[in-house]
Amino acid sequence: MSDSYDLIVIGGGPAGYVGAIRAAQLGLKTAIIEKESTLGGTCLNVGCIPSKALLQSSHHFEVASHEFAAHGIRVSGLKVDLKTMMGRKESVVNELTKGIEYLMKKNKIDRHVGAGEITDPGKVLVKTTKKGNKKQVLKTSTIMIATGSDVTPLAGVKIDEKQIVSSTGALSLSKVPKKLVVIGAGVIGLELGSVWHRLGAEVEVVEFLDHILPGMDSEISKQMQRILKKQGLGFKLSTKVTGATAAKGATSLTMETVKGGKKETMNADVVLVAIGRRPITDGLGLDHVGIKTDDHGFVSVDNDYQTNVEGIYAVGDVIGGAMLAHKAEDEAVVCVEIIAGETGHINYDAIPGIVYTHPEVAAVGKTEEQLKAAGVDYTVGTFPFSANARARCNADDDGFVKILTEAKIDRLLGCHIIGPEAGDLIQEVVVAMELSGSAEDVARICHGHPGLPEAVKEAALSAGGRAMHI
Ligand code: FAD
Ligand code: NAD
Repeated sequence: MSDSYDLIVIGGGPAGYVGAIRAAQLGLKTAIIEKESTLGGTCLNVGCIPSKALLQSSHHFEVASHEFAAHGIRVSGLKVDLKTMMGRKESVVNELTKGIEYLMKKNKIDRHVGAGEITDPGKVLVKTTKKGNKKQVLKTSTIMIATGSDVTPLAGVKIDEKQIVSSTGALSLSKVPKKLVVIGAGVIGLELGSVWHRLGAEVEVVEFLDHILPGMDSEISKQMQRILKKQGLGFKLSTKVTGATAAKGATSLTMETVKGGKKETMNADVVLVAIGRRPITDGLGLDHVGIKTDDHGFVSVDNDYQTNVEGIYAVGDVIGGAMLAHKAEDEAVVCVEIIAGETGHINYDAIPGIVYTHPEVAAVGKTEEQLKAAGVDYTVGTFPFSANARARCNADDDGFVKILTEAKIDRLLGCHIIGPEAGDLIQEVVVAMELSGSAEDVARICHGHPGLPEAVKEAALSAGGRAMHI
């Protein structure tokens, strides 16, 4: 393997490995350094992929337990075989991480196993053992930092990954807890809370804010809370967890109301800490080479993703913004194209965000609250899935589509969906927004019948005051 490159990528997650592939396509001699034994980062190993595998398995159990009967299908003796379910999840992860390994070889990208440390703008040290006593120095013209993020710790709550777990522990519990308390009603809390609730746990979600899903359109967050409550999840809002102690067999949590500081304790078998994620920059040598970070520790970059040190770039979770795999990948592609002398940009207003609960939640662009705050004159179009023929055939009709447009010119400004396959449905609006489309553009496109996308078309028609099926 060589020790001299055009580009060294530090971190093998979605930002790092996708950036490395694009760099190789553009003819850059590229190396990727990853400290873990497998590539794929948080997303493939302990994030997007294992969580979606468990969401799918637990959804099958939920549907077979509660919904088959209405379709005239009788089942008896249903049981969760957690070992098999976890085994399937692990196989999906293994196959996909091996796939990334293959893609590195196919694109002739050198893969170095170890922790990378920038010792100079043109040099990276690879510490190939956990203790860091085996080292190799690599030379390079440019560096792309893609070291990602890990769980934000909560003062007074020590994660042991058994009784007090982060998302990583919650993806590998060896039995279904009787009671799971989730700290944080964000994406991780609701997705993993849903998994364990479907498998039989009593789930209580404790949230600091007075609403769930921070940052989402408030109509969506209110409706989603109602839906999840109907499913059986408990919510304690406006409450701050102040500590947790794990003793044999039970964990005790202390909390207080945000207003008034009224104290309470709660017991659980397992506690999931899901209060956000923070950038990973430890041991990377940022101070040594003088790379600036912001107040929250995220690496600061300019519009070309370059740090304040020439030739050193950063992308993905480590630079902040939406912590999403597709945002990380797109940043890496644009960054590498700029390094290779091309141009590129990302429209941050057209990045979809999806919560893979059931029903799913999906959003793109501005929320109604953001438009109000910016004083924009906007129009709202909505359509409920209860009036969509396909959703009725599927007996899966909770939720609605909401489209926001600029009042005078009908330009699409945002779309928010709760509903079956919302994560796939939103993509039509993402494309339309990228092409500066209007609600009328979406409404005039022929949509197959009977199909869930017809609900998007009807919401677009509704923005023009002419929905047909309601
Ligand atoms: P990461 O994926 O975190 O990769 C960074 C890599 O860098 C890691 O492999 C790390 O080991 C390595 N590294 C760090 N420091 C060094 C060093 N010094 N030397 C060498 N290697 C180093 N996003 C979605 O879009 N959809 C989802 O459904 C989704 N689900 C999620 C579920 C969970 C439970 C979690 C935790 C996250 C989820 N995310 C999801 C978020 C997504 O995982 C991240 O946004 C994405 O992984 C960020 O990619 P990244 O490449 O920037 O960082
Ligand atoms: P989050 O920021 O989505 O939610 C964290 C929640 O915890 C917030 O609502 C916050 O108010 C609350 N909180 C903070 N401190 C608290 C306290 N002391 N007591 C009670 N509540 C408290 O973070 P997350 O759910 O941990 O997810 C982290 C990141 O991972 C997100 O940025 C998300 O984009 C990404 N992710 C994405 C997906 C997806 O795309 N489907 C899935 C999982 C994770």
